[in-house]
Amino acid sequence: MTHLPHLLLLAMTLSAAVAAPGETRIARWQGDKTAAFMLMFDDGWPSHWQVAVPELVKRGLIATFYINPAKGEFDKFKRTWAEDLWKQGMVYGDHTMTHRGVRDMESAEREIGDCAKWIRDTVPGKPGRLLSYGQPGVGPNDWNITAAQLDTLLAEHHLISRPTFDGHGAVYHWQTTEQMLALADKAIATRGLEYLVIHGVERIVPDWKYQDFWALKQAVFLPLLDGIKERADRGDLWVTDHISAHQYETERDKATVKVLEATEQTIRLALTHTADAALYDLPVTLVTQVPAGWTRVTVTQGGTTREVEVKDGAARYEARPDGVEVRLARAG
Ligand SMILES: [Zn+2]
Repeated sequence: MTHLPHLLLLAMTLSAAVAAPGETRIARWQGDKTAAFMLMFDDGWPSHWQVAVPELVKRGLIATFYINPAKGEFDKFKRTWAEDLWKQGMVYGDHTMTHRGVRDMESAEREIGDCAKWIRDTVPGKPGRLLSYGQPGVGPNDWNITAAQLDTLLAEHHLISRPTFDGHGAVYHWQTTEQMLALADKAIATRGLEYLVIHGVERIVPDWKYQDFWALKQAVFLPLLDGIKERADRGDLWVTDHISAHQYETERDKATVKVLEATEQTIRLALTHTADAALYDLPVTLVTQVPAGWTRVTVTQGGTTREVEVKDGAARYEARPDGVEVRLARAG
């Protein structure tokens, strides 16, 4: 078996060539997860904060809530939406003020613009930051602006349309936990992005003697969340909100990593992208090959420093895409 050492040597040479210290790739999804998944809840139903949010929080998951600040069921519990839910990590999307449609551009400005304003005034953040927009389902005579007019309004208010309801509605398109988890598994198989749109969630406690619109049974909903959490925990899913996913995809596809220096002691990089830097400022996950023998790495960018562990010869960490130098050094 004298040829074996040659094969081993060849394999080692090849892997060394592939994994040169400093070589950096931009992870496809945050945290170097295989795929991304979004849970969306429409229409600001009470069962969202009564049932869905506590169950999401229990599992460390988040979702995007498409709200209608001037709709009765929302207005009655406005304080909960204004003061509680976003503090638990939940993200709000614009679903228009009333969900009743638009008569003309002027009413569209109020329906869409005022909802965006309510969200930005309520949840602290950058003044003109991106928000997700979910087109409300209304009757054929209740939406009286053109697609081009809508696009103009969305651009003006820094709103990004979420993917459509088609084929993604809980209760409406899918009824079982398995069917809904199949969407997540499809995302994993394609290393892509999938999502589910939910309306009401079954309310058992408190007993209000009625359920919200298209209420998803808890017997389906709770195992669904367990299944999503299990996939997130094993590194397959990044469970996120629509704007974060949109920012990540946009930045990832327009980003460049430049290796400024790579020695046995230090690696210096710069991460930039060609998207609008004011709107696309989400940190991106980088995976950098480090020299042999490094087990922990100190990552410094601007005034921020953290330490990460080396796994399979690489350091995984978040970096801001603003061109500010990222410096990696051997730690420990
Ligand atoms: Zn709706």
